[in-house]
Amino acid sequence: MPTYDYRCQSCQHQFTTMHSIAADPLKDCPSCGQAQLKRLIGGGGGVLFKGGGFYQTDYPSASYSAGAKTDAGSCAPGGCGAPQCPSSN
Ligand SMILES: [Zn+2]
Repeated sequence: MPTYDYRCQSCQHQFTTMHSIAADPLKDCPSCGQAQLKRLIGGGGGVLFKGGGFYQTDYPSASYSAGAKTDAGSCAPGGCGAPQCPSSN
């Protein structure tokens, strides 16, 4: 099972836990009980997450996936030159 780092945005409690990758992310803080947990993405650099408000977007990878989907056409990196090609702007 993979391990995940969580941090509570309410009381700043931080901990590591493990659960199935298919399970829903934790929400409730085991320390203060607030549903303010954020899963820390990337791992290894927990000290980067200082101060509230930095982590306002839940999952940056979601927008990344959307962008990747836009590029999923048949054109080469840098664009194919077609007017509708999103890469040739
Ligand atoms: Zn808390």
